Amino acid sequence: MKKRKFLRGFTRFRLMLTLGLAVLLPAAALIILNFSQLRSFDRNKVLEATIHRDFQEVLAITEKRIDKKAYTMAEEARDVFPSPDMDSPEKEKQLDLLLAKFPWMAHAFVYDEKGIVMRSRPEQMSDKYIREEHDRQAENFRGWFGLEGKSLVEMLHKKSRSINFSSDHTKRDGEAAYLLTAYFVLPQLPNDRVVLGGVSFDPCYLKGTLFPQALDEQVNQRLSEQSGNQIAMMIYPAESEMAHDIKPLAATAGWGDGKPEVSRKFDDVFRPLALGIKFQGISVEALGRTWMHQSFLILGILSLLIIGGLVLTKHIVSKEMALARLKSDFVSNVSHELRTPLALIRLYAETLELRRITTPEKKQEYYRIIRKESERLTALINNILDFSRIEAGRKEYEFRETNIAELVQNTLDSYRYQIEQQGFAFAESIDPDIPAVRVDREAIARALVNLVNNALKYSTDEKFLGVKLYRENGSVKLEVLDHGIGITRREQSKIFEKFYRTGDPLVHNTKGSGLGLSLVRHITQAHGGDIAVESTPGEGSKFTLSLPLASATQQTNNVASSGTSPS
Ligand code: ADP
Repeated sequence: MKKRKFLRGFTRFRLMLTLGLAVLLPAAALIILNFSQLRSFDRNKVLEATIHRDFQEVLAITEKRIDKKAYTMAEEARDVFPSPDMDSPEKEKQLDLLLAKFPWMAHAFVYDEKGIVMRSRPEQMSDKYIREEHDRQAENFRGWFGLEGKSLVEMLHKKSRSINFSSDHTKRDGEAAYLLTAYFVLPQLPNDRVVLGGVSFDPCYLKGTLFPQALDEQVNQRLSEQSGNQIAMMIYPAESEMAHDIKPLAATAGWGDGKPEVSRKFDDVFRPLALGIKFQGISVEALGRTWMHQSFLILGILSLLIIGGLVLTKHIVSKEMALARLKSDFVSNVSHELRTPLALIRLYAETLELRRITTPEKKQEYYRIIRKESERLTALINNILDFSRIEAGRKEYEFRETNIAELVQNTLDSYRYQIEQQGFAFAESIDPDIPAVRVDREAIARALVNLVNNALKYSTDEKFLGVKLYRENGSVKLEVLDHGIGITRREQSKIFEKFYRTGDPLVHNTKGSGLGLSLVRHITQAHGGDIAVESTPGEGSKFTLSLPLASATQQTNNVASSGTSPS
């Protein structure tokens, strides 16, 4: 017994160890690792840094694209630029033609040894402000090129694209605007001639067409590249950032207002301007926070699921182990139960055979013992056979119109002697007026015998057995009552499970298979009824089997088969 207990404990320990090592540890490690990774992600603001890097890249690409566009446009103008070796009126005419050809141009000029010839769009020259801008530009370039023309020409000849840009703040319609001028050397002229051509980009064109187009192109491309949060971009004067008053010169739809998440100063063509980028409607910080919250939440839910799964697995495995234990107990109980009556039968039969008994009364007693023991054997074997039929789904019931009062009475009569002999006070109350019900007689009798047997087995000091049959609310009730050891509340729901036996020491010293009540339950359920127990430890138990009158009578098939497991 000690050894068995030890083995059980060991198997349990092994199971826990396997569960712990193989499942619990990796699961716990995975959860902890994930949590700490997420925490460090959160602490180091990895997500925000990644987005910022990505934004920087987008800005760099955008700058390159806009620069390229400006260079290409300036080059197109330079390629058809008039030769400086013409007289002034001719130069003016050629520059006017150039302005007509390129609508994006505000001013065009040629500077050479003789001075500067500058032309502006004729339709804009009626605007006093633009006229002043024209004069200022002409004055500025003449002065600047007069002083530094030679070194500028040298420097431009060395550049691969031989174009430079200068910019100026100006106004259009009373609003701040940006004037970009490209100046270049003419490729057909020798390097030592100080001749410079130049074109100014119309500020309205930059603000209304070139910038928005370039930004939109970039945003749309990003949209098709990735789904998720939409970005917005803008171009603004770099110095306005210092004054904390950023006013976009041009912006994509959805910019709204507020500061850019990441910005980049143009460092070639559009030098005094800067590019800005952000997500529409949400800051990267808020986005990172939401993402973190979501990740923690998902991880939390997954962890709970894993823990739930583990608890469930442990529960199921423990249950299976308990069942396996019950089965092995069952085998040893049953063997014991078979051996005892067989040994008794053999002993008494041999004694009779040897004619050692002479008195007829003694002989009678021996016969009775042999009969009683074989009856016990039959009951046990019947229980086991029924149980195995139920387990295999082959148990069949034969329903017949039956006088149930008579059936109960007859079954009790054949037990009366045994009951009284064991010193039990026996009280029976059977209502004779119960209408006939369709039941399997043998099965109902077996259920009753099992309940009575239990009452006899599990009573110690106060030996009382009560059996009551009566009708109540459309059902027949069969009550078996004892004043025995009783059953704890916790165990009351388990006693109907197969192989289950309570932990009471008396139960352990009493023979039993743990099958009786599970059979009783199966039989009752097959009749459409149910079984209930009321019990107080130390005071006794009452088992009530109820069969519905209506449905029991309605059973039309003579034979019903049932595969319900008795557990
Ligand atoms: P067993 O062969 O062990 O009697 P049963 O299925 O008939 O198997 O009963 C299951 C268990 O329920 C018993 O082992 C016992 O612990 C408990 N039990 C059943 N009937 C009674 C009763 N009348 N009084 C106390 N305990 C009972």
